[in-house]
Amino acid sequence: MDCIFCKILDGSIPSKKVYEDDMMLAFYDIQPAAPVHVVMIPKAHIASANELNEENAKYVAHIFSKAGEIAKSVGIENGYRIVNNCGSDAGQTVFHIHFHLMGGKTLGKMA
Ligand code: 5GP
Ligand code: ZN
Repeated sequence: MDCIFCKILDGSIPSKKVYEDDMMLAFYDIQPAAPVHVVMIPKAHIASANELNEENAKYVAHIFSKAGEIAKSVGIENGYRIVNNCGSDAGQTVFHIHFHLMGGKTLGKMA
């Protein structure tokens, strides 16, 4: 499958890893939109939030359960934003569900 994030998972595309376990990987975004910008992805190819169901939503729960710990490890425990872009109007460019974890400054209003 031609998926950049599956290639990051299998190591064929390198990434600067922040956290990894059996269900997820977190790595620094190649084009940061904030002083600290991490991408959190499941170790399962789920194209977008539209493809979530009762069975695979455990990956999302797991990612959120680790987000605070990851934020602390990259020094943004005072405040961060978690963003999921779903679909082209929202600016989704990689169709492997992911959650942007951003901080390191006072963040502006939503949208
Ligand atoms: P989206 O726009 O789909 O919500 O987010 C995709 C994100 O993945 C973008 O912020 C983009 O900079 C990041 N990205 C795309 N390709 C790569 C890559 O090869 N390595 C890393 N570290 N980030 C990537
Ligand atoms: Zn994938």
